[in-house]
Amino acid sequence: MEDRVLIFDTTLRDGEQSAGAGMTVGEKIEIAKQLERLNVDVIEAGFPVSSPGDFEAVQSIAREVRKPIIAALAHANETAVDRAGEALRDAAHPRIHVFISSSDQHIQHQLHKNREEVVEMAAKAVARAREYTDDVEFSPMDSSRTDREFLVHMVRAAVDAGASTINIPDTVGYAIPEEFARLITRLREEIPELGESVRLSVHCHDDLGMSVANSLAAVKAGARQVEGCINGIGERAGNTALEEVIMALRIRDDYFGMETGVDTKQLYNASRLVSQVSGFPVQANKAVVGRNAFRHASGIHQDGVLKERTTYEIINPLDVGVPRSELVLGKLSGRHGLRARLEELGYALSAEELDKVHESFKELADKKREVTDRDLIALMGNERAAVAETYSLEHVQVTCGTGEIPTATVRLSRADGESYTDAATGTGPVDAVYQAINRIVGSPNELTEFSVNSVTEGIDAVGEVSIRIEQDGRPYIGRGADTDIIVACARAYMNALNRLLAMGDAARSPEAAGAV
Ligand code: MN
Repeated sequence: MEDRVLIFDTTLRDGEQSAGAGMTVGEKIEIAKQLERLNVDVIEAGFPVSSPGDFEAVQSIAREVRKPIIAALAHANETAVDRAGEALRDAAHPRIHVFISSSDQHIQHQLHKNREEVVEMAAKAVARAREYTDDVEFSPMDSSRTDREFLVHMVRAAVDAGASTINIPDTVGYAIPEEFARLITRLREEIPELGESVRLSVHCHDDLGMSVANSLAAVKAGARQVEGCINGIGERAGNTALEEVIMALRIRDDYFGMETGVDTKQLYNASRLVSQVSGFPVQANKAVVGRNAFRHASGIHQDGVLKERTTYEIINPLDVGVPRSELVLGKLSGRHGLRARLEELGYALSAEELDKVHESFKELADKKREVTDRDLIALMGNERAAVAETYSLEHVQVTCGTGEIPTATVRLSRADGESYTDAATGTGPVDAVYQAINRIVGSPNELTEFSVNSVTEGIDAVGEVSIRIEQDGRPYIGRGADTDIIVACARAYMNALNRLLAMGDAARSPEAAGAV
């Protein structure tokens, strides 16, 4: 058997869908390009039948990202397969990913069918997908809770219908590593094509915190494709965190003896980008990409690492692309220095973009003596957050403190040049700012997530604010960064509101319900 494991990234499908991150097509393309730099083998770009927005995203990524295989998800029916095929028409390497439920729980309660009807639907859909491309993946959804004999029967039918990859999803995160490995072994024993002419893949969820362990156990048992998301984002507790699988295969090459094609130095940038765009901060102690992953707090560990890195560090931070955090730039650094450093961090900018970033950089350097790599990344996040602005923030001012009623005054300008000023009180300064903005914009919404993180240590640190608002059950994220936390909060809120105003119509159809 070959010793190469394909990395299948579904951040833009399983990650986005569940998170409802409300990414724009432009943001999805940016993530896809970073995934291409990371050199993953497959990018699942979306679920075209679920909404016109998803169709457009898959189509645009297929046109612009040429090196990896671009996959599109489809239910096992003609319409869904055709939409996927159409969205992938211009792809250099298209893959249609067909799925249908295989467990009795799902077949009875969700599909209201019997087993044989479901097998027939699967085979027909796979055959239809083959009319568009030779690269067809089939997933029996909820495999880990499916009767083993029936699962073998269904996979057999999909292979006979022409599937070139069989993916075994632990859709609800129910599997245990040893048991999951036994399932993979059994499938290979009963269907000899698996692992030979047909690739065997796994797709795990983290409900019991075992998605990475289950994926690796499956690789040991013969799976040669692992599906997951950057930072492990996704439905409920999330998907397999790809950066963990990739580094485990690399660091424990002695145990697995497997290769991936991934350029691991791009992992940190991929993690930051996905976190900024999805609005989900990465927990500090997250393996491989967390901010504390390479920090040594105890004296004995610090001493050890200073003498010899490998005493307490099994991963070299440079290998995953963690930026050096020493001082890099100051107020007097010019455009050249800024451009060079941003390029080292993986950002390629046009002259126009550089001008804009340089302006923001000078503003920041005025307030903060030392600008580090992490500040620059936050700054780029601010630039990236830009959406078509229906309203922009001109001025914000708050009064608060012991014995004061928190009060905010804001001035916004509308795209047509009109300027509006209003004021409001609130339970705290941030609430007051949001109330004042609401009085002007008048688009009711609910704030569902709010987080403030300091980008670096120190009293003059840049504060990065991530928020999520909802209107009619649809989420919109917003980000803002500034040395003044109130300004960062106001920017984040304006960013989310502008998204809501710009994207409000691109509603997702209820068809999106249920996926691998
Ligand atoms: Mn999934």
